[in-house]
Amino acid sequence: MKTWIPESRNFAYLTWKQVDALPRESTLLVLPTAAIEQHGHHLPLATDTLINNLLLGKALALLPPELPVFALPPVCYGKSNEHIGFPGTLSVSAQTFLAVVRDIGASVAAGGFKKLALYNTHGGNTSLVDVLARDLRAEFGLRTFSLFGSVGAPFEGVSQQERSYGFHAGEIETAYLLHATPELVRTDDYTANYIARIERPELLKPEGSPANFAWLTKDISPSGVLGDPTEATAANGERWSDEAATRIAEALTAMVRFEPRHGA
Ligand SMILES: [Zn+2]
Repeated sequence: MKTWIPESRNFAYLTWKQVDALPRESTLLVLPTAAIEQHGHHLPLATDTLINNLLLGKALALLPPELPVFALPPVCYGKSNEHIGFPGTLSVSAQTFLAVVRDIGASVAAGGFKKLALYNTHGGNTSLVDVLARDLRAEFGLRTFSLFGSVGAPFEGVSQQERSYGFHAGEIETAYLLHATPELVRTDDYTANYIARIERPELLKPEGSPANFAWLTKDISPSGVLGDPTEATAANGERWSDEAATRIAEALTAMVRFEPRHGA
């Protein structure tokens, strides 16, 4: 898989002796979580994993060399059962995902490290990452942090409809890949589908509201796209990824410096 993680910040490139020499209290290890799943006719299965790697790699490149932050190899397989029925989607169950990340957290704690950040770029993993962050804190005493997607980057120029319901393989993901891996984007095979419209405010929403309905992509979108990629540009992908990377770098810096008010 293509990577943008600076070699000097790639944990898996270290020897155990180099790991042993890292400051245990302050070193922050970042575990990327993503997915291998259908992304419509025009984007590759690895889209969420590539975006994770791109944004985290750019963020790590912004950090001063003395800040002890390292990227762990990603958990590429996620809970993607919303995309079952599309060949190529490789999903793990919630139980498997929880067990894998928990075991990695246990290994990090066993190595004497105190700080772990979970950086997730696949929506289907989000609620599991929330559970894991607290459980790793409670069970192993790790200072656990979580980061999601583009970390609140503003996406200037994106329509309100796309912002609200461009869930999957829409303008933003397509722009990121047009910037990062244009050879993997089939620009002659765009499709658009929306799960809901902002001008029709039904009581039940697909997510993020007090009353939701559980959705499967195949119920809504024959192509697998939830959003509209047609306005995506490489220039926006570059600008948005730089803005997201700045936010991620700021968050990682805050995590390294984080001192709890009470306790160990
Ligand atoms: Zn995606």
